[in-house]
This record gives sequence, structure tokens and C-alpha cells, in this order.
Amino acid sequence: MRYARIVPDIAARAIDGCFDYAVSPELAETCLVGCCVLVSFGHRDVVGYVVGLADEPAAGVDRARVQPVRSVLAAPSFDEVGARLASWIAREYAAPLAVCLRLMLPPGQTMRVTREEGGDWTLVAERAKAVDDRWVSLTDEGRAFRPRANAKRQQRVIEALGAGPQRVAELSALVPGAGSVVSALLKHGVVAVEHRRRVRGSADAASTLSSARAPRPARLTDGQEAALAAIARAADARVGDVVLVDGVTGSGKTEVYLDAIERELSRGRGAIVLVPEISLTAQTVGRFRSRFGDDVAILHSRLSTGERFDQWDMVREGRAHVVVGARSALFAPLSDVGLVIVDEEHEGSYKQDQAPRYHAREAAAELARLRGSALVLGSATPSLESLERCRRGGWRGVSWTRVEMPERPGAAVLPRVRVVDMRREFAPKNGSIFSRALGDALLGMAERREKAVLLLNRRGFASFLMCRECGCVPTCTHCSTALTYHERTHSLVCHSCGRSWPVRAYPDPSTRCPSCGSRYLAQFGVGTQRVEDELGMLLAGKGVDVIRMDADTTATKGAHTRLLERFDASECAVLVGTQMIAKGLDFPEVTLVGVVNADTTLKLPDFRAAERTHHLLEQVAGRAGRGERPGEVIIQTYWATHPAIAAVATHERAAFEHYELAQRREAYYPPFSRVANVVVGGVSETCVRGRAQAMADAVRREVAAGVGGEAAGSGRAAAGGRAGVANPRGAVGMVLPGLSDVPGMPEVPGMPEVPELPDGWEVLGPSECVKGRVKDRHRWHLIVKAPPEAELGPVLSAAVGSLPADRRTTMAIDVDAYDFM
Ligand code: ADP
Ligand code: ZN
Ligand code: ZN
Repeated sequence: MRYARIVPDIAARAIDGCFDYAVSPELAETCLVGCCVLVSFGHRDVVGYVVGLADEPAAGVDRARVQPVRSVLAAPSFDEVGARLASWIAREYAAPLAVCLRLMLPPGQTMRVTREEGGDWTLVAERAKAVDDRWVSLTDEGRAFRPRANAKRQQRVIEALGAGPQRVAELSALVPGAGSVVSALLKHGVVAVEHRRRVRGSADAASTLSSARAPRPARLTDGQEAALAAIARAADARVGDVVLVDGVTGSGKTEVYLDAIERELSRGRGAIVLVPEISLTAQTVGRFRSRFGDDVAILHSRLSTGERFDQWDMVREGRAHVVVGARSALFAPLSDVGLVIVDEEHEGSYKQDQAPRYHAREAAAELARLRGSALVLGSATPSLESLERCRRGGWRGVSWTRVEMPERPGAAVLPRVRVVDMRREFAPKNGSIFSRALGDALLGMAERREKAVLLLNRRGFASFLMCRECGCVPTCTHCSTALTYHERTHSLVCHSCGRSWPVRAYPDPSTRCPSCGSRYLAQFGVGTQRVEDELGMLLAGKGVDVIRMDADTTATKGAHTRLLERFDASECAVLVGTQMIAKGLDFPEVTLVGVVNADTTLKLPDFRAAERTHHLLEQVAGRAGRGERPGEVIIQTYWATHPAIAAVATHERAAFEHYELAQRREAYYPPFSRVANVVVGGVSETCVRGRAQAMADAVRREVAAGVGGEAAGSGRAAAGGRAGVANPRGAVGMVLPGLSDVPGMPEVPGMPEVPELPDGWEVLGPSECVKGRVKDRHRWHLIVKAPPEAELGPVLSAAVGSLPADRRTTMAIDVDAYDFM
């Protein structure tokens, strides 16, 4: 008899772990690691995941009482390494194992068992609708058409189309500016554009594109050569060594990835490439597809479920060996992985904001260790954490090497950056949001028929109303969120719960402050609409296409790509947008980048605020001057002397890093410590507070129990015990760790005195969150700081496991947190 170790999909911390089930001879061939199965657990049927197989039940499990696996519901979606990665995430981030294993499942396979009348148990899987693409092809006249000798882009477009029809978006990736070329050729009847139904996951596009070649540079830069050599060494070591490619924007990092992947493919190993969701544009995808054709699978959330499933399945079937995607690509079923690449590794969006709250860069490092791949991190603005690890030369037993690529290839140079101190700009009469410098630069750009990108930095701070007399800001009555003012609809909107209120007559003086009755309500902060309107006025009659890209205009599927295509096709245009325009765009005609308000993110209550602001400004500045014409960057700020802003102007990142590291060391923040944020939520504030206090006490006890330099070690033992093996029958009456306390035991605030914590450990709080209320639920949190090498996750798991269950509150444990609001 074979035995399977199975994790039941019950997302309760109390039942977290594996249990043994017997595999009957009939199921022996199909019940494999990575399978989804149906088992009994207590008195119910549950879905479970097979994470291991053995000839004997685990020690201490009574063979006679082991239950059988009832049926196999789905073929394997992960292997042993996948199972180990899931359990690493569970441990590291204090998340239930079952929830981590769900990461490994095929997209759209909702893990719900249903039974048709009298039928078998089946899994429900979603299927998606088809989508349309714009395809361009040569017409019959087009075949005879000879472009003028100096029309280089036309020549390249026509040459590319010689291989067959192409998607406009992907053509733009091959030939920058292809969009406008296509518009021109269309007028002359040289090409035809049609809408075509896409086979899910764009496999058809890949096959036509596989014949097209990516523009491979004639010569690599010295920096690129050095990076490739370091990556080759790391890949050949096969232990998970890390190479940080620290290259200025436009230095050719993507080219390095492509070449490194090519090398691995030639050795029979595949690659996983993570790109932040918002920079996963058709442009990025096109560059990978054009180099590797249909050997590429794409996985990201803007694809429909069906598309994602098809792409995922291509990997499982071994038809695609390069996976490009957002965080979830990490869990694609690729078994022979030579390279794991994390582009823009500093991006905060790599930190998952729901359970399991893993950081994709850290999970990638673990995956690389487990599979013996090289991990390549790329950024123009690496995180302080990664820089620190490179300075140390290693981290968690593998080597970390930094390779610099300080130059752009060819003629392209870094743009000139000007910081405009808005305090010195005397307010123009019309109250314009553009300084004179930025206004003039925009007009100059229009005259030269070039393109500009305008960033409105507004994460966390949109436009809101404030009373000039008492400072009151209208907030949502269900959340502690300042209401955002929407000019077009004259409404106040809560971005936490989506409720909205009309502002009947703003700025009519009859609108009064809800708190003091004052009539002086003023609008603070600006929105993208306002910028769009002002641009319209500034550039009126100049024939400039103003394109707004923000959450509103990109809400529908494909909108993002369409807006970029329009920007590409325009002869002279301004792209206005929020954070989402800062990354990954490579349009050689962009000669001007403007930042309307650089400092809003500096003031957020978050120790990473300065680092984030600096990254954003560097990134957006990097959009300028990527072609032959030089670029200019104009940054408007009220805080011109802040190192995060000043360092962008001089391209001296070291100055900022030096300043910021000193601040972090002083305040004991990463990379000098680890920080976890534990948020308790619930309807009753008393319950929430009590629970947060109980958790803080439990963490203190747990940490203190490990005194003797072994705090982390004891935490590991405690958590390890929880994931113990038991037989399912036993599970019913088993005394589960964490439930051994009397259920319903009253929480006593101010538990017995807690001994002193070991060095490097701090438990702060509990206190009310900055967003103290969201959707009528109160939120309290505590912050736990630990030494950089401490095992924070297991300690927190043990702490929450030691508390009695509480249905009135929820608890979110965020290890290595990025969001403290
Ligand atoms: P990054 O990812 O660092 O921002 P990219 O890889 O997008 O940079 O490269 C920027 C531009 O430079 C692209 O248009 C790319 O095709 C081009 N490029 C990259 N490497 C070279 C090279 N060695 N020689 C010439 N052009 C190059
Ligand atoms: Zn007031
Ligand atoms: Zn609300």
C-alpha cells in the first residue's frame, strides 16, 4: 500500500498541515504529487493536495485507521519542488499551507467540489471569452511598394510584414514608432488593418512572429557583457546564486535577459521572468515573443482566465520554456529552470497584499535555490535590501553579486534633469499647475513635434476638499478615508469602499464645512483630469494629442494597450498619467518628461516613502531621451533639497542611498532589521483592541521564550510542531496545537508580566491603524521588528497559534510588510 501526504484545503490555521491517506492500487498510477484529490476530513469531504508519497505512513500514525484517498480530481499541477516552495512561503510568511498550495494550481481552476445528482465529484473550472486584436498585413499593392531610401521605419515595418500579418502592438515592439508608420501606410493602401479573434493566450500570434527576428544589437556594451558573464557563472553554479543587474534606465537590461535566456535554452533549461504587472505591456511581451516565438508563455492578470489557463497549460505540456508574467509566473509548472529573472526588483507591487503575503523577489530566490537556477534581479534603482546583500557578498547561503551598467548604448545619453522649486515660482495669475519652465518646455516640444510624458504623483493623495478655517477634510462615514474630489462629476468618492456623495455646488459658496460651517472649502491636490484640462488650454490649437492614462481610463480590458498604441501612432502627443506611466515605456520620440508634483509620496507615513519617491522619479526620468534626440526632465517640487529629489537631478544615486541608509540604521528599519505588521480587524472596536493586545502579548511571550540567542530557533520548533502529521481520524479528536487552550477563554488584557525581549526584537503597539476604519470595520495593528536574519514568520505563527480562536475578529500577518497604513 502507498501512502499520500495530503494538505486539506481548509484555510484555518488550526487545521494547517499534512495528513496521511492510503492510496489504493487502482489509484496508484494517477495519485501523484501535485494532484488535487478528494478526501474525507472529520465528517466532511474536502479537496486536498498531494505533497508527498511514501511506502509507510508517518511515524506514530496507526495504519489501520488511515482513510483512503477517495478520488483523484485533477492531474498534477506542481512537483516536489513546488510543494517545498509552498511550504517555505507558509513558514516564512506565517500563512496557512493550503492557501500557499493554491498558488500552484492552474489559473481558473476554482477548488470547489460539486456533485451533480448521483454523479461524481468534479472540479469547477472557468472558461473565458475570446478577444479581438488589431492585425496589420501587406496589401497586394503593398507588396510592390518601395519606400523612400530614407524612410527607415517604413522599410523595417514592410520587411517585418513580409513574414506575414502581425499584431500592431507587437509590431511596435519590433519597430519603435511602428504605430504611426502603420497609420501612414494605411492611408496609402500599402497595408490593411483588421480585427481578428485571438486564440486564447495568443499562441497564433506567436507562430507568425516566430519567423520575425528581434532587432539584435550588433554589439553588446561592456556592461552587458559583464552582466552576461556573471549570470553565466551563477547559472553554471546551479545553487541559486544571485546577480543584481544595476543598470540605468535604457542601459539594455532587457537585452541582457534575452541573451541570458537564449544561453539557457541552448542548454535545455527554461526561464521564468517576472515583470511588474503595470509594466507588462505589449511592448515588453513583444520583445520576448519576437526573440523566442511560441516558446514563450505569458501570465498576468489582465488576461482572461481562459487565456491564462491556456498559457499555463503550454508550460505544463512542455511546449513553452520561457514564462513571462507578473508574480504568479513564479508558480508556473516549469521544472527545468536555468534562470529566474525579476525585472524592476525594487517594485513594491512584488509584495502580495493578500494571504499568502509573500514577496515575489524572496520567493524567487527560494525557487532558484530549490531548482538550482541563477536568480537575476534587474533595476535602475535597486532596493536597499538587495544592495545591502550585495555589499555583504551573500545572503542565506548563496552569493549575491552586483554588476553595474552605467551607460546607455550608442548615442543615447541620460537626460538633463531640472528641479523647479515651486515655492520660488510666484503663483501665476491663472493658478496654473505648471511652472514657467514646464509650460515653456511643453510649448517647445509641441513646436518641434515631439512627445512628452507627464507624471502626476498621487499615490495615496488625490484631490480632496479641505476647510480653510478648521482644516477639516470630509471623510467617508464608513471608513477613515479622506474623500477624493472628482471634478467632472462634482462628487466626493471614497476609494476604500466606493461610496460617493454629490458635492452639489462646489465651488459655489453655499457648500459649507461639515464641521464648522465655514464656506471656505478649498480643493487640495490635483487629479489627472485637471492636468489634462490645463494641458488642453496650454496647448490649444497646437495640434497636440493629449492622452490620459490612469485607473479610470484603463479600467476596461485592452484600454492600456490601445492608449499606448495611440501615443505611439501620434505625430505629437503628451501622455498624462499616474504611477502607471513611469515604467517600461520605450518610445524614442519622447524628449520631455515632466513631474507635476514630486513630493506627495514623500509625506506618507511609511519608512520607504523617500525610497519610493526616489525610485519613481528615476524611473519616469528614464523615459526621456531614449532615441537619438536628447531628453529633458523637469521636476516640480516644494521640497527641492530633499536628497530623494536632489539625487535625481545630479544622477548621483549614491548620495541618496547614503542619506537613506543612515536614516534606516538610526530608526532600525530594513535592511538593518525585518519588520512585520499585524493588523486586526472587526466590527467591535473593543474586540479588535483586545485581540491586538492579546496578540502583542503572545508575540512578546513567544520571542522571550526563545531568549538565549535562540529566539528564532524556538519559533521554528513551535511552528514545525503545528504542521505535524496525524491520521485524519485522529484529526477529529486530536488536540490541535493552538486549540489546546480552553475555547472561549476570556482574553485578559494585560497578561502576566513579560520578560525582556532579546536583542534586536521589538514589539510596538498595538495602536490604531492610520486607516483606522475601512468598510465599517475597525483596524488596529502591532509592529514587530526583528534582526535581519531572524525567522520572523514562525515566531508569529506560534504566537497566533497560542491564542484561542476568535470569530469576531480577523488577523492579517504581514511579514516584511510594505504597507503600514
Ligand atoms: P532597459 O531594460 O535597461 O531599460 P532596454 O533593454 O529596453 O533597456 O534597452 C533600451 C534600448 O536600447 C532598446 O531600444 C534596445 O533595443 C536598445 N539596446 C539594448 N542593447 C543595445 C546594444 N548593445 N546596442 C544598441 N542598442 C541596444
Ligand atoms: Zn471647517
Ligand atoms: Zn468608505
